[in-house]
Amino acid sequence: MKKLLVLGISVLIISCSGNEEAVSEDGSCFSTGSKTYKWTMVTTWPKNFPGLGMGPENFSRYVNEMTCGRMQIKVYGAGEFVPALGVFDAVSQGNVQLGHGASYYWTGKVKSSQFFTAVPFGLTAQEMNGWLHYGGGMELWEEAYEPFNLVPLAGGNSGVQMAGWFKKEINSLDDLKGLKMRIPGLAGEVFTRAGAETVTLPGNEIFLSLQQGVVDAAEWVGPYNDLTFGFHQVSDYYYYPGWHEPGSTLEIIINKEAYNSLPDDLKAIIKYAAKSANQEMLDEYTARNNKALTELIEKHNVDLRKLPDSVLIELKRITEEVMQDFIKDDPMAQKVYKSYNDFKEEVINYHRISEKAYIDTRELD
Ligand code: CA
Repeated sequence: MKKLLVLGISVLIISCSGNEEAVSEDGSCFSTGSKTYKWTMVTTWPKNFPGLGMGPENFSRYVNEMTCGRMQIKVYGAGEFVPALGVFDAVSQGNVQLGHGASYYWTGKVKSSQFFTAVPFGLTAQEMNGWLHYGGGMELWEEAYEPFNLVPLAGGNSGVQMAGWFKKEINSLDDLKGLKMRIPGLAGEVFTRAGAETVTLPGNEIFLSLQQGVVDAAEWVGPYNDLTFGFHQVSDYYYYPGWHEPGSTLEIIINKEAYNSLPDDLKAIIKYAAKSANQEMLDEYTARNNKALTELIEKHNVDLRKLPDSVLIELKRITEEVMQDFIKDDPMAQKVYKSYNDFKEEVINYHRISEKAYIDTRELD
């Protein structure tokens, strides 16, 4: 006991003397470097929002644990420090060090950012992770954000989303004409060309907009998140599949000067904490979406519908037109689209005989 006590005291002395070690009070946690970093992370999500909002919370917790408290990240929800759609500028300008959101919110500033979240009829979560981390996607994302003083990392994935909430049935493309819908990104453009009027609203404004009739339809994420917002109280039909967001990657953005000021071990910890948060979010959705869908149907009598194949085929055709127009004046968007599309063609070939064939096989009886 005496020996342990002496050891404990000496450890505390090292930690308090400003030497190059950080040690927790009980001596159970030890890391090199004595400087403490207190950083701020702003997000596009409501604070602690299930799924999406847990991305930044988990990231912050992992960094804190792995650095033994040497790096502490305070997470702010949308509107607490900057508005939801002010995250990119706040981090780019160095007002805060970190942000968490979805890159396609910034398409107006960086066209190619669309590809790092989701593309209609594009890659699934598993395929996005493959493209980003082994298919050249991350390098392109870094290049796209370089002029904005930002370092990007993948920080979550929703998996395949739902097509959205509608107040009326969708039986043909004509039913989209004049429809006012919250649907961001390229999918919004696809719906616009199909005759709808589309808007991008942050998540926390959707419920009221549906309730007050500002929009007739809205997509958000999937059952787990949509149940939390209560969209079933203000719309009748819940449509699938999520053709428009088949596996949306969320992002962590870091101000470049802040990032460069870090020692190498903290840079590495940030990278692996992000990778961990990226996977964790998908795991949470995988575990909870089905339970939420069951509750929506059985408890709240939600009318679950599949979009007719004829509508999906038309939306796919329009998507191809939209993509060509979208990239035509932007060399970086062309470059990213080529990389994304080449990867998609290759991975589809393999997934046709692996993931898809297996899931079909499991359905046999
Ligand atoms: Ca969505």
